[in-house]
Amino acid sequence: MDTFDRTSSPLVEHTDVAIIGGGPSGASAAAWLSRQGLDVRVFERQHFPRFSIGESLLPQCMVHLQTCGLLDAARAGNFQPKNGAAFCWNGNDAAIDFREKFTPGPGTTWQVERADFDQRLLDGAREAGAHVEHGISVTGFTPDARQPQIDLRDEDGATRRVSARFVLDASGYGRVLARLTELDCPSTLPTRGALFTHVEGLYGDDDYDREKILIGVHPEQDDIWYWLIPFPDGRASVGVVAGIDDLDAAGDDDPARYRALMNAEPRFAELLKGVTPVRDITRLAGYSSNIERLYGPGFAVLGNAGEFLDPVFSSGITIALDSSMRAAPLVMRQLEGQAVDWDADFEAPLREGIATFRAFIDAWYDGDLQRIIFHERQAPRVREMLSAILAGYAWDRDNPFVSASRRRLKSLAQACALETSPSP
Ligand SMILES: Cc1cc2nc3c(=O)[nH]c(=O)nc-3n(C[C@H](O)[C@H](O)[C@H](O)COP(=O)(O)OP(=O)(O)OC[C@H]3O[C@@H](n4cnc5c(N)ncnc54)[C@H](O)[C@@H]3O)c2cc1C
Repeated sequence: MDTFDRTSSPLVEHTDVAIIGGGPSGASAAAWLSRQGLDVRVFERQHFPRFSIGESLLPQCMVHLQTCGLLDAARAGNFQPKNGAAFCWNGNDAAIDFREKFTPGPGTTWQVERADFDQRLLDGAREAGAHVEHGISVTGFTPDARQPQIDLRDEDGATRRVSARFVLDASGYGRVLARLTELDCPSTLPTRGALFTHVEGLYGDDDYDREKILIGVHPEQDDIWYWLIPFPDGRASVGVVAGIDDLDAAGDDDPARYRALMNAEPRFAELLKGVTPVRDITRLAGYSSNIERLYGPGFAVLGNAGEFLDPVFSSGITIALDSSMRAAPLVMRQLEGQAVDWDADFEAPLREGIATFRAFIDAWYDGDLQRIIFHERQAPRVREMLSAILAGYAWDRDNPFVSASRRRLKSLAQACALETSPSP
């Protein structure tokens, strides 16, 4: 890719808003902006439906889907309902029910196969008026406060240039503008990796709750954890996350490592007896990423194209949708000629919620949050505050665990440790 590339590509098109990528952040922004009557173009490298990881939503997503007008499009997918998270560790079970939470708002959501979910959102954006092109990669970018430009390449190698009044980067792991503008910066989270697949034949036993994501903790290493995300009809997404060295040490190749790690956790080993994998075991590593700034002259960066933390609390799509529903009205105001403070109205509040998730993720990996979750006796109000954040309401300043996440998690974990309940 060329940074600020001004090649001889002819200028063939103009649009109000050009969006790079048609995942959840791109589709939601496209739907919202198209409904305001703007000419919106989405350039998507892949052909849909396509597989993507990130299948467990948080209830906060429902608010954003409603705001951008895509809730009904998503609902038509009849996805697996989800009302919380269940946890298992060494024979101990715990659960958080999102319907019992401190912050008002939806308490349920879905577990989705992303091929279908993303297709529905993008079709919904199209119905709202967005023009979507597949098989088009964005390869160059010229920032400009009034007329930024992007360079496109199709699958036959033909190139063209589009000028817009504003560009939104929703390219996810493609991180197009972070790279092209050299704003890319490494995440401060340690490098971890995931091995995952889809299975079928998982009908579960009597105490298996399909309406919750199941998160397991490795019996001996509490920084290795598992997910099981049920879909309808006995299908499920199953994965394990560990430091790269621990992943590599678990076997000779990725299928063997996946099997060994799954067998190490008794509940997962039991549940997965007799299921059939229906996808190859896939490895994703080093997915945590960051960016110095989420906006610049004529552009803003959404979802995973900006900062991505860690999959443990399924915060990715919530942050993606939150970013697009913050950015879209600001784009509208800017194109109407109003002054917009991208720092105060976009980056700072978005990063505030991300910081709350980050505190929870750090507390998970240092063991504090596991101590809290597996602790049996907890004041119901405290449980509801934790539940609200794990349901995605990480921007609710009325919740004491939002405003002082780290300090409160630390003291709560210490209080739990003083008592006798089991903890990893
Ligand atoms: C192991 C793992 C598990 C996860 N589990 C969850 C979970 O349970 N729940 C959750 O909410 N999140 C989860 N996530 C995170 C989730 O995958 C992302 O946060 C989410 O997909 C971000 O949405 P997005 O729209 O920003 O980007 P994406 O969904 O990645 O969409 C970006 C789109 O941009 C396109 N694109 C890329 N480059 C270009 C280019 N140059 N030109 C044109 N188009 C381009 C891509 O083809 C893609 O379709 C997980 C992540 C990992 C790594």
